[in-house]
Amino acid sequence: MIVAADEHGIARAARVLADGGLVVFPTETVYGLGGLAHDPDAVARIYSVKGRPSSNPLIVHVAGVAEARSLVGDGWNPVAEALAGAFWPGPLTLVLPRGPGLADAVTAGGPTMALRVPAHPVARELLRACGKPVVAPSANSSGRLSPTLACHAWEDLGGRVDLILDGGACLAGVESTVVDATTRPARLLRPGPVSPMKLEEVLGRFAVGPGSEAVARSPGLETRHYAPRTKLVAVATAEAAVSMAREARAEGRKMATLAFGATPADMILPGTPAEAERALFAALHRLDSLGLDLIVAVFPPDEPRWWAVRDRLARASAS
Ligand code: AMP
Ligand code: MG
Repeated sequence: MIVAADEHGIARAARVLADGGLVVFPTETVYGLGGLAHDPDAVARIYSVKGRPSSNPLIVHVAGVAEARSLVGDGWNPVAEALAGAFWPGPLTLVLPRGPGLADAVTAGGPTMALRVPAHPVARELLRACGKPVVAPSANSSGRLSPTLACHAWEDLGGRVDLILDGGACLAGVESTVVDATTRPARLLRPGPVSPMKLEEVLGRFAVGPGSEAVARSPGLETRHYAPRTKLVAVATAEAAVSMAREARAEGRKMATLAFGATPADMILPGTPAEAERALFAALHRLDSLGLDLIVAVFPPDEPRWWAVRDRLARASAS
C-alpha cells in the first residue's frame, strides 16, 4: 500500500516499524526499505524481500549525530567526528567499528557497521518517531535499479512490503557516498552525492576504491549492481555510441543512446554532476520500460566530480 508521506502516513509507518514490519520510505539518496536494526526477524525479511545475498551488509540509519555516537560507542573516532560534523545529516555513510546490540545480519557478521544520518525531512521525521536505528538498503530487488520514486519501489516490491511512504522524487538520486573511517587514511569505498572534492576539504588526503582487501572491506561492492533488465553498454565517446547504434539498427535491434550535457544522444541528461545524478535512475527506469534490445550510454568525463555517475553506469553495464 502506498500512502502520502504526511503526518498521518509517517505516524503509521513508525507503528509498522515498531511492530517489526517493513516500510519503504524516501531519503535524499534513493528510496530505502526500512526495518528495525535490532530486530533479527525484520532484518532477515529485508534480505529475503530483496533477494539480497547475506554477505552484503546493510546501512544503519539514525536520527542524529548523538544517536550515531551512542550506537557506535568506543569506536567513534576523530575522522567520524569531522565527517559527521561536515556532512550529517546528509548523503554520506561512514563505516565504523560495529556497535553492540545490532542484529548479526546487519553487518553480514563482520566487525564493522555502516552508519548514516539522512537529511530527507520524511526520513528524519520517521526516525525520530520510531526512536530506534533503522536499516534501509535501497528498496529494489537485489542487483536492480535503485528507486528514486515511490512508484519504482511499488512496481518492484509492491505486495512484499507492509507500507510505502510516497515523498516524491529523491533529490540526490544516487546511493550515498561510503567512506571507511576505520582506516588511515580514510577510504572512499563508493562515490556518491558527497563529491571527492568535498571529502578532500575535510579529510585532506584519502584513499580511493575498495583496496586490496576489497571483499572483506565492503562486501556489497561486487561489480554488477544497479542494473536495468535491458542490456546496457557504456562507451567512452559519442563516436563509439553512434557506431554501435548504426550496427544495432542495421541488425533490426531496437536501441536508444543516453548521454550527458552537450553530447548528442536519444536521451540527454544534465551536463552537471549533481543534476545528472538526480536524473540518472529515473532515466534508466524509463528506458528500461520501453522494451528495447539495447541501451548505449556515453560515459561523462573521467573526472572526480563525475565518479558517482561513472560508477553507476559501469555497474549497470557490467555483465
Ligand atoms: P546500499 O546497498 O545502498 O544499502 O549500501 C550498502 C553498501 O554499503 C554495501 O553494499 C557495502 O558496500 C557498504 N557497507 C555496508 N555495511 C558495510 C560494512 N560493515 N563495511 C563496509 N561496507 C559496508
Ligand atoms: Mg542498493
